Order: sequence, then C-alpha cells, then structure tokens
Amino acid sequence: EASLQKEDSTADSQGVGGYKGHDMLAPFTAGWQSTDVNPLVIEKSEGSYVYDINGKKYLDTLAGLWCTALGGNEPKLVAAATAQLNKLPFYHSFWNRTTKPSLDLAKDLLETFTATKMAKAFFTNSGSEANDTQVKLVWYYNNALGRPDKKKFIARTKSYHGSTLIAASLSGLPALHQKFDLPAPFVLHTDCPHYWRYHLPGETEKEFATRLANNLENLILKEGPETIAAFIAEPVMGAGGVIPPPATYFEKVQAVVKKYDILFIADEVICAFGRLGTMFGCDKYNIKPDLVSVAKALSSAYMPIGAAMVSPEVSDVIYSQSNKLGTFSHGFTYSGHPVSCAVAIEALKLYKERNITEHVKQIAPKFQDGLKAFSDSPIIGEIRGTGLILGTEFTDNKSPNDPFPPEWGIGAYFGAQCEKHGMLVRVAGDNIMMSPPIIITPEEVDELIFKYGKALKATEERVNELKSQ
Ligand code: PMP
Repeated sequence: EASLQKEDSTADSQGVGGYKGHDMLAPFTAGWQSTDVNPLVIEKSEGSYVYDINGKKYLDTLAGLWCTALGGNEPKLVAAATAQLNKLPFYHSFWNRTTKPSLDLAKDLLETFTATKMAKAFFTNSGSEANDTQVKLVWYYNNALGRPDKKKFIARTKSYHGSTLIAASLSGLPALHQKFDLPAPFVLHTDCPHYWRYHLPGETEKEFATRLANNLENLILKEGPETIAAFIAEPVMGAGGVIPPPATYFEKVQAVVKKYDILFIADEVICAFGRLGTMFGCDKYNIKPDLVSVAKALSSAYMPIGAAMVSPEVSDVIYSQSNKLGTFSHGFTYSGHPVSCAVAIEALKLYKERNITEHVKQIAPKFQDGLKAFSDSPIIGEIRGTGLILGTEFTDNKSPNDPFPPEWGIGAYFGAQCEKHGMLVRVAGDNIMMSPPIIITPEEVDELIFKYGKALKATEERVNELKSQ
C-alpha cells in the first residue's frame, strides 16, 4: 500500500501543454494525473531518441517499454511492414487456414531458441496474452494426461507477467492485485530472489539461493506436488525493479521443480533477443524451460506480437491426444497477424545479421560500470543489472530497510530531473529502471551516464534539503 500511495501522489511526467484532461483512460496512470497534469506526448523517434510534440529530444533509456530494441526508425522493419501491408494486410490462422509469414516466423523463432528444443510456437498480440496462453496450455496438457488436480501455478513476489486477469495474478506486485480482486486462487507466490534486500546476516549468495529453493520445495510439499502444474520466472526480473538472480539460483529451483514433475515457464518477454548479452535469458542462466513466453523485442515493438513456445514433451501430449481433445479452442483474431509476423521475421534476421549478442557484450561493460560507479552515492541503496538492463534503488543509509519517506518522492524527483535534461527513465517508487535500445552507441551511453550523474546530483541536493527541514 505504501508504494501505491507513493506512486499515486507524484506525477510520473511533467508533460507538455495542451492535453490535460484528455479523453483516454490511460494505462498505468493515476486518474488524477490525466486530469490535472499534462501528459508527455511523444511524436517521433530516431535511433535511441524520441521527440515530444514541442520537438524536445529525449534519450529513451527504457526503449519504449523495454521493447524498441532496434531503436526508433529502422527502415528494414518499416519496409517489411509496408511490403506485407501491400500484399496481404490481414488473414487469420484459425481452422487450419493461415498465412505464410506466421508459418515462417514460427520456424525462425523455434530455431532462434537453442537453450533447449522448442517444438511449437503459438502467436499472441502481447506478453500478457502469451502468459495467459501458457496457463491454458498447461491446464490442457494436464487434462490430456488425466491429471485434473495438477493446476496451480507458482510465481515469485515482485515478478511482472502482464496485466490481463491471469498474467496479473501471476505477477507478484500488490498494485496489480489490490482493487482488482486478484490474484486468482490457483496462483501462489514464492520468494523474490533479491539478495541485497532479503539475505540474512552473514548469508552468502549461494546460501541465499539454497534457502529460497528450500522454501519453494516446502511450499510445493505443503500444497501437495500433485496440485502444482508449473513454476514461472523471468530470468532477470524487470518491472519489479531489475533483479538479476543470485548465483546458483536457477540451478537449484530447476532441480526442485523437476523433482515434482512441475513445468518451468520462462518469461523472456524482457530478456529475449540479446538484452543480457545472450540471445535469451535462458542461455545466460542455463535454464532449460518447458515453455517460453516472448513479446516486445520479437518485433522490436514495431507491431504488437508475442508468442508462447512449447517443448516437444508438451506438444507431443497435446498432439497425440488431439482425437480425444478435439479442437484446441484458444486463439485471438490477430494470432499470427501477417504484418506483425513479417516485421518479426525481419527483426530476428537483423538480430542475427548484426550479431546483437556480441554488440551487447561489447557495450554492456561501459553501461554497467559507468553507472555502477555512482553506487557510492549516499542516497543509492543498490545499483544492479547485467547486459543492457539496470536498476537503481534509492534508500537512506545504503540500507534496504531505510526507505525515504514516500511523500518525498525521491524516485519521481530523479525521473523529473532526467526528463528536464532530455532523458526518459522508468520510475516506480524509489526504483529507477533502464533498458535502452540494444543498438545504443558508445557516445549515447556516455550521454546517458552524464545525464544520470546530473540528475543524481540534483536529487542528492534535494534529499539534503528535505533532511534539513
Ligand atoms: N512479462 C514480462 C516479463 C514483462 O515485462 C511484460 C511487460 N512489461 C509482460 C510479460 C507483459 O507484456 P505485455 O505488456 O505485452 O502484455
């Protein structure tokens, strides 16, 4: 509730004139903000930058919403979309009818994922729909196997899996549950693997990971393993504050879920396609999932598209039982939308041609080390990240247990300073998140670090001022 009040009391953006009191019910925006504060209206993008309607330029350190991996004006993506729009703007994929781009993308996507073999890809419009689809697939699978009781899901506190009913239930963020009568009863939450915040005195990272895996096992045993269908995890937690896993964590939780015949769903919606310096988060942490959700960078966000990939084991059951099960009655009008698929095919091609994993590996140290150099700031509790994703958490006394008073709005103040200097960051309470376009250049990283430093200095002064009052 504290974090809700915090978010609700400070404007996310100072905006530009003219659109206060607009007609759009705005996502993830407090009602009073739309009424009382001008929104920031973005009109144009170019590489790692966006421009507002007054022509002011901002370095977009969140790549839209962790998604415009190839930046703002990639002509090859525009060409792919235009060519497909001219040829066939739409046809669906229901009832054994489909289009060539959706078939081709399924093949390309499955080939791109190599951490373990994936056999089929189901297309959605978003990450939320991909995760909802995973839940339905897992239920369908267990029904096919004659295990009607194996239906519960375990997710983690502070995870973000989307905002549709089931994806919001899987998410471990109170703001997504409160006032919406969620989570659904078949979703359980286990520990958030955030070492800095949750480790016990003297506990090493590996010991912390062991304790969390034991807690997970105890939860499974308490509920009854025969009732737990799947475990879902982001390789690096994103919207919950950018939380990379502690050493040995995924090795240990994978062993637990395997022991109880529980499926592992990797939510790669943020991590996929190079962000961590590997093609997928699963490659980086040696995760061998049964199901994988992707979206966002799949099309570099030029068109909405997501996908739920399934392993041969899961698809074999579904296919072998299909006489008994009949039609797989799940799908969206725009599942496999040909324009979205054409763009995604081109995006995957560009990631490979431009060797984006290598590019991220080369540029990440500059981004990570440059920003982590600010860790000594007295108002920063922790800076954490890997590859091209990074979170900053403001706390007092460098302690996870000494938050600044929510009414001080420290995170929001930092965000506003960045905005003033022509840089957009994601603010959530006193957490700041960044995941810039993966095409970001070394010069742009310098600019990002410079502006971060300026905003930090102003925020430190603000804290001193507030403390002396
Ligand atoms: N999973 C993760 C890890 C995400 O970060 C998000 C979106 N931020 C989603 C799922 C939901 O995706 P969408 O907003 O496209 O529904």
